[in-house]
Amino acid sequence: WPGHHKKHLTYEELQKILLDTPSPAKAAEWQQYYTAGPHLAGKNLSQAEWTRDRWEEWGVKSDIVAYNTYINYPVDHRLALLEKSKSKSTDEEAWKVSFEATLREDVLDEDPTTQLEESIPTFHGYSASGNVTGSFVYVNYGTYLDYEDLLNANVSLEGKIAVARYGGIFRGLKVKRAQELGMIGCVLFTDPGDDGEMTEANGYDTYPNGPARHPSSVQRGSVQFLSVAPGDPTTPGYPSKPGVPRAPVDGAIPSIPSLPISFVEALPILKALNGVGPSAKDFGKYWTRNTGLGYKGVEYNIGPSADNVVLNLVNEQEYVTTDQWDVIGIINGTIPDEVIVIGNHRDAWIAGGAGDPNSGSAVLNEVIRSFGQALEKGWKPLRTIVFASWDGEEYGLVGSTEWVEEYLPWLTVANVAYVNVDVGVRGPVFGASAAPLLNKLIYDVTAQVQSPNQTVKGQTVRDVWDGYISTMGSGSDFTAFQDYAGIPSLSFGFEGEVEDSPIYHYHSNYDSYHWMAEFGDPGFVYHKTMAQVLGLTIAKLSEAPLIALNATDYADALKQYVKQVETKLENTHPEPSTEKDIFNYRARAVSRAVSTKAELDPELFKVLLARLYQSVSEFKSAAIKLDAKAEKLAEKANEHIPWWKWISKLKLLHEIRFTNTKYKKIERAFLYQPGLDSRPWFKHVVFAPGLWTGYAGAVFPGLVESIDNEDLDKVLEWVDIIDHCIDAATKTIE
Ligand code: GLU
Ligand code: CA
Ligand code: ZN
Ligand code: ZN
Repeated sequence: WPGHHKKHLTYEELQKILLDTPSPAKAAEWQQYYTAGPHLAGKNLSQAEWTRDRWEEWGVKSDIVAYNTYINYPVDHRLALLEKSKSKSTDEEAWKVSFEATLREDVLDEDPTTQLEESIPTFHGYSASGNVTGSFVYVNYGTYLDYEDLLNANVSLEGKIAVARYGGIFRGLKVKRAQELGMIGCVLFTDPGDDGEMTEANGYDTYPNGPARHPSSVQRGSVQFLSVAPGDPTTPGYPSKPGVPRAPVDGAIPSIPSLPISFVEALPILKALNGVGPSAKDFGKYWTRNTGLGYKGVEYNIGPSADNVVLNLVNEQEYVTTDQWDVIGIINGTIPDEVIVIGNHRDAWIAGGAGDPNSGSAVLNEVIRSFGQALEKGWKPLRTIVFASWDGEEYGLVGSTEWVEEYLPWLTVANVAYVNVDVGVRGPVFGASAAPLLNKLIYDVTAQVQSPNQTVKGQTVRDVWDGYISTMGSGSDFTAFQDYAGIPSLSFGFEGEVEDSPIYHYHSNYDSYHWMAEFGDPGFVYHKTMAQVLGLTIAKLSEAPLIALNATDYADALKQYVKQVETKLENTHPEPSTEKDIFNYRARAVSRAVSTKAELDPELFKVLLARLYQSVSEFKSAAIKLDAKAEKLAEKANEHIPWWKWISKLKLLHEIRFTNTKYKKIERAFLYQPGLDSRPWFKHVVFAPGLWTGYAGAVFPGLVESIDNEDLDKVLEWVDIIDHCIDAATKTIE
């Protein structure tokens, strides 16, 4: 009986504990612990044990789950610019090193993390070992369309090394396309132009003296082909337990070597292209957008560099099969088959990781400590709550994906929602992505928490947030839950900057405790706020008698998504004109999509889309009814029913349970077991990471990719599949 179990604590009392307990000082303490030294995936057992011990101390039964995973660690690297010239004395031609990159970030007096003896080299997760030498080409962001532009302009790519700037899409996909085009290596650098206003060029001091990027900062990161499948690349679809058969990794990770570098070390390389080949200007706005190194003398020519000006790129990685550790904590509820999962990754690319991911780890600890206070008072949740500290997120969502693959049968039956916190805090702007079923929950909860920004007295997190919720793409641990298991997921944090915020040194040594305390979240007040938001989110999911999902919001979103396909087909999408729109469009589009529509019969598409609109509208009618019913039941559940009306009590209980089971199954209806055509691990027909974006989500990916491929048979097949899924969802809730 909902309410019965709460004899020791009311919902209001629980909420009060979750709002009152989190403290900035405690969050800072956990931050200091996690960021005191390297904790790379598979090399952080002591932190896993420490995390387990804290959670146990706070009254949450916790264990470590190990997976035996295929993973790389850096051994050696080199990047040098070589030039062949005639010796003046002997008149003989000889190669000389004109620039040797240090491939290191500067040690700073002010920042103790950078002084650690044991720092993690700059490298790419799941990168290929190799020693290549060749002339090089500047490929802009290395998006699909960027490479198309180069091919169309007859820039020779084969046998060359790609020099790409970070941004726009997931880094592994830049390497993937380079590899497909016969390039032999890839160098990725950070262009400070992409930092916005807050740059050295605009006169701002650089970290640690000011808010601008430190010129030596390097973005490490995985180059796994994440839109193909996340997780251990040798065990797609099953858990990496010791002794399991291993699939070959071809196609899941690069075969050409790559290295990340800083902008200061990119300068000599880019300058060597000055005046060589076409200019970025010849390719339009997208290529000249945010090119921020002009003040350092870079002209942004494309190349390729002449045969006597080459790069030598050496990347030596050791591949091993070794353990990674998830910490799993559990608070058993009274309903055995309704489970909420909350996760944050623990592993970081650097010794610090104060933003990514340990702001989230500190927040999660504060939340668990808060629930511990409630447990002490005798509280027991209605639904079971599972907490996870994932390992191996950075390499490719490894810890979370393996765990979901292992517990899929249980999660399928029982998991109501997954809540993700990766970067919990790195600035003052709240951001969220979510399955539409969870939108309302996020609005409700953020309206209950005071913002640290009190320029208007009493304003909540909701008040200062624009309310934009993005669709689920990928790039963090919700992916296996949402796209593989069909569990409605959300991911949130204070991840954004306002115009004059300090820039964030993503995956760099400067994402340190010192940076966080001085620039990211002085006073750790946003840490506390995020813990309040997360705590209330979990409480509502676990305690509301009716599961806090909203079906009508899903129906409305589906209609929007069909509309998006229609716009794409009609080609009525206006040519993007603002820089931001061009950027978004260019990062997401594949060129074939642009020429497509004319080939496909518009009348036929009208019929097909009408069918989807019809199914969505039927789903919406059923959804409205379900939500109304749930609201009624929720009211009844709050009323006092005298004991002697036990039969109506029992009836109400059964109705609530029946209704909750419908909510639990909605998202599952959108799974299609054979998966997407080019990447069968992804089973969700509505959401997937974009094939060529990685981070940004695609909607109706199977259909959209068939349109891009001008494959009419596949288009018909996917309309059919999607239509069946929507119908199945309708039947589930009717
Ligand atoms: N958060 C990681 C990144 O963006 C995820 C890596 C991955 O999904 O492979 O680098
Ligand atoms: Ca696996
Ligand atoms: Zn992260
Ligand atoms: Zn990361």
